[in-house]
Amino acid sequence: MHREFRSASAVVRLAVNSHLRCCLKHISLIGSTGSIGRQTLDVCDLHKDALKIVALAAGKSKLEVLAAQVIRFKPELVAVPDSESAVKLRKLLENSSSDLTNKVVIEYGEEGLINVAAHPLADTVVTGVVGFLGLKPTIAAIKQGKIIALANKETLVAAGCVVMPLVKQFGAQIVPVDSEHSAIFQALADSKPMHQRVNQIAQLLLTGSGGPFRTWSKAQIESATTEDALKHPNWSMGPKITIDSATLMNKGLEVIEARWLFDVSPEQIKVVIHPQSILHSAVEFIDGSIVGQFGVPDMRLPIHYAIFYPDRVFSEQVPRLNLAQIATLTFEEPDFRKFPCLALAKQIAGANDTTPCILNAANEIAVGLFLNKQIKFTEIAQYIERVLNKHNAVSKPDLDDILEADRWARSETQQLAAIRN
Ligand code: MG
Repeated sequence: MHREFRSASAVVRLAVNSHLRCCLKHISLIGSTGSIGRQTLDVCDLHKDALKIVALAAGKSKLEVLAAQVIRFKPELVAVPDSESAVKLRKLLENSSSDLTNKVVIEYGEEGLINVAAHPLADTVVTGVVGFLGLKPTIAAIKQGKIIALANKETLVAAGCVVMPLVKQFGAQIVPVDSEHSAIFQALADSKPMHQRVNQIAQLLLTGSGGPFRTWSKAQIESATTEDALKHPNWSMGPKITIDSATLMNKGLEVIEARWLFDVSPEQIKVVIHPQSILHSAVEFIDGSIVGQFGVPDMRLPIHYAIFYPDRVFSEQVPRLNLAQIATLTFEEPDFRKFPCLALAKQIAGANDTTPCILNAANEIAVGLFLNKQIKFTEIAQYIERVLNKHNAVSKPDLDDILEADRWARSETQQLAAIRN
């Protein structure tokens, strides 16, 4: 009798385990040591029974952090940028007390990155890498029909006209992680299929905090230092996006990202400055209703939503919003004269050519130059404008045209800095 009881119990346990296994979401994560990557792993850590990391990719600047992540999450595959980093990572794992050395496959280069994105076991691929580097792995994941938890806005900005047709062709799905786009996605999630609801959207209200220079005068902004620009009032993010938030280029890139994600014209996207970062964005429908998403400014919230989509799963990780405690929410128009990067991005947001790719590449280089203290804050916009003016746009570009435009714009922006110094 006792044996029968144990046997029945084992059957129940097996059933529960197999249910968990069948519900287990397998995740590939690109950019695991960056801000989005680390917060994604925080979410995975809290939901170990539901989420399993199968592959990780990261840059070479934080290999110790990556090694610790490999030991903790035991992925099957890890990708690093070059063979030297692969050797270093292997050594770090050998020197640890873990027994993972021969269980983890370590790959490197573009192929490694693409293999992480296209990992056969991954249901969802989180693209937390910053910049144009995210494009090729995102395309690889799309071609495998994965769910893409997209945190890499530059992919859609530079190559939306190439990426979105592929999403349709391969039956992939993009769930945005960018907090504003997550808010819009959530506001639209319960309505009709995208092709029907597009006609019901009056406009998207894309909110932004206004960054650290919102209240600064034009003259003060002229003398802004790198340290000033890295002090974001509400969000804790990586350096590139923090500078983009100070120039408001981040909001400009997000207008272009929203245009592709939600199939609306740039004229239907209104940027609203909202210093408290509590309303993360909203949709105004044609009947005048505005539906938005509120929450504390914490990236783990949109990451959690994107990973578990289409489900909603309980989380105690992110603090709850207390509206009465917040008490006041304010909204204002952006100042395009003070923030010319936003004006530049808005101007070209509707283009179906290589122009947005040029804007993105010139911006990445100019931000790098500013972070290295080689150019002034206000020169970021000037450099981008000069490179845009020099560019001969290629209409309806393919991936090769995009890659070539990106290469050209980077080189042109570097040359501007070389001439200056
Ligand atoms: Mg954002």
